[in-house]
Amino acid sequence: MELLELYRRLREHFGHRHWWPGDTPFEVAVGAILTQAVAWRNVEQAVAALREAGLLDAPALAAFPEESLARLIRPARYPRQKARKLIAFADHLQRRHGGSIERMLTGSSGELRRELLALWGIGPETADSILLYAGGHPVFVVDAYTRRILHRLGWQPAEAPYDRLQAFFQERLPQDPALYNDYHAQLVALGHRLCLARSPRCDGCPLRRDPPLCRFGEATG
Ligand code: SF4
Repeated sequence: MELLELYRRLREHFGHRHWWPGDTPFEVAVGAILTQAVAWRNVEQAVAALREAGLLDAPALAAFPEESLARLIRPARYPRQKARKLIAFADHLQRRHGGSIERMLTGSSGELRRELLALWGIGPETADSILLYAGGHPVFVVDAYTRRILHRLGWQPAEAPYDRLQAFFQERLPQDPALYNDYHAQLVALGHRLCLARSPRCDGCPLRRDPPLCRFGEATG
């Protein structure tokens, strides 16, 4: 199957990615909320500031003033918006699950996804990152890298909606959270290092030849 061959080549090239970094499911969820539209190194700074302030904990975060939180997480950009999202998430955990993300994550994938998407500021990519990386649910995460790469491969149109791209993977791959976990991380590595938005580095890409998997890379080679 081409999707497994794609993964095999990326894994061979980049090695296992050991993603997502985080000591606890709550920390992983906080990272998933903070990472939108910013580089990971900025998220790391914000998470370190939260750790230092004792805020990697739902009850403490839910009770923290929004403006002070925004100041703490400034390195992650859009601090006011992201502070509001973090507090909404922590407050939800407090009210509905006794402050325990572990308890929340025991629900079914479908129900949990709907529950997360109903929270202020949580979109499909964030919800699915929490489900997969914090909860080990078999849910494939789609991001801007995924969309760009699938389009260049010639497998999906550039404007394909999130759910269609997610189904593309989920309908063709075994329902395996460990595979989904590293597969998404491999696509991030490819998009970040080689398949750049402008001037992709196709010469060093493992998808270009033997045999070619990428329509764009083949046409420009
Ligand atoms: S061959 Fe080029 S366009 Fe295709 S996936 Fe690799 S870097 Fe991207």
